[in-house]
Amino acid sequence: MTHHVSRRSFLSTTLLVGAAGALPGEAASDRDEAKPFKPGIITTWEHGRPATETAARHLKNGVCALDVVEKGVNVCEDDPSVTSVGLGGLPDENGVVTLDACIMDGRRHRAGAVAGLQNIRNPVSVARQVMELTRHVLLVGDGALDFARKAGFQEQNLLTEHARQRWLEWRQNLNPDDNWIDRTHDTVTMLCLDGRGDLAGACSTSGLAWKIHGRVGDSPIIGAGLYVDNEVGAAGATGVGELVLQTLTSFTIVELMRHGRAPHEACREAFERMCAKIPEARTTQEAFIAIDKQGRVGCATNSETFVFYYSDGGPPERNKPIPIS
Ligand code: ASP
Repeated sequence: MTHHVSRRSFLSTTLLVGAAGALPGEAASDRDEAKPFKPGIITTWEHGRPATETAARHLKNGVCALDVVEKGVNVCEDDPSVTSVGLGGLPDENGVVTLDACIMDGRRHRAGAVAGLQNIRNPVSVARQVMELTRHVLLVGDGALDFARKAGFQEQNLLTEHARQRWLEWRQNLNPDDNWIDRTHDTVTMLCLDGRGDLAGACSTSGLAWKIHGRVGDSPIIGAGLYVDNEVGAAGATGVGELVLQTLTSFTIVELMRHGRAPHEACREAFERMCAKIPEARTTQEAFIAIDKQGRVGCATNSETFVFYYSDGGPPERNKPIPIS
């Protein structure tokens, strides 16, 4: 059976987050018994700060985790000064901005994703509509754009003058030893445990700058760049996506939490596994974040520059993890 839009009208750090407590009279929607938990949001990178601010406001107002992560990530996508996400993202080798994004709803264990999407500044919202309006999970390239148009998204040029200048500079300095992965890249990934105890996650990226046209990273691949299990926790990645794809890092982290690891332990173990299989991971930039069902968050990274933001509904707290060497 096919589904057409038109047929429907459409290092390692731990942050042990305080004393946990369920909201009075509320039970986690997928559990028989209410266990103590603390709602929270964790977001990658410095540009995750305004995204977390917006997300925190929604969390505080009782918005569900799925809407929190979508609205939060939209903030980053809309900001033309962020060169790794949405409008203003750095283009591929042909000078074309192509975006990858996904979203996952723990309550229904459903997901939506788009890859290689052009001309739409909010790919995470297109991913949300893939999840809501179809029974598919991933749409790519022209098909994703066609779907977005039918779903009512407006097209625009996403290549800012700043990004175009950087692309021109890169072309002028083309290096014969180019390895295709030593590129600037910083995906925004956000995970949320809401006041009902439900989990969701989202990520959005323009991927590696100057990538080969058609290259897709980990960010829109469920289990690689993002994974959510409402009974266990959620995890997300930012870094060189090829390595994350080869080791399905986010799925691995959630499975490790299922087997009792705290979020920071799960992230760390997933990183060590990645390095054992792919020694190159010690030198590429990788960072993983996680939140569990109690609202504890954790992170592991080998990056000197990686930061993440945390909020329990209040002002975002900046965290600078100690890189794993
Ligand atoms: N993971 C992204 C990609 O490979 C890039 C990043 O997170 O920095 O496309």
